[in-house]
Formats: sequence, structure tokens, C-alpha cells
Amino acid sequence: MNFYLLFFLLIIIIGIVVSYVYFMKEKKASLQAIEQGICPKCHQESMELTDQRSTGCGGPKMLTFECQNCNYVNTFNVNGGSCSSGRC
Ligand SMILES: [Zn+2]
Repeated sequence: MNFYLLFFLLIIIIGIVVSYVYFMKEKKASLQAIEQGICPKCHQESMELTDQRSTGCGGPKMLTFECQNCNYVNTFNVNGGSCSSGRC
């Protein structure tokens, strides 16, 4: 009876999942580039870490990177890692 509605919902869910996975991939790729100091927008090696906030030991860290060339700003939430690397 509600086959079309169900089908419609399924399409939407698949769409959300696909775009989420794509978004995460993009985010990961740009994080890797930014960590090497390369701006994903203008591709210059002018990215600088401007802000770093930690929510405590082992908690997620909020890193803010800013491009000195084109003013591109991106924020990343990095999960802990400081404890396992022995810097805690
Ligand atoms: Zn840039």
C-alpha cells in the first residue's frame, strides 16, 4: 500500500548515507593535506594552526587551521591520541 512512500524513504536514506560517507572522506583528505601544511583551496603550503582546544585528557581536540594565503579556515575535531602517544 505504502510502497512508494517506503521506496521514497529508502532513496532518501541511501542519499544521506552516501553524502555522509563522501563528506567524511573529503574531510579526511583535507585534514591529511592540512596536516602537511597544504591548503585544500589554493594548494599553497601556507596552512597554519591558529587555535587548539582540548576538552581534557583523551578527549577530542578542536584544531583550527587558517591559510595565510587565501584566508581559508577549517576546523577539525581530532580524537584524543595524546594519551596513547605518551604526551599526556
Ligand atoms: Zn589557501
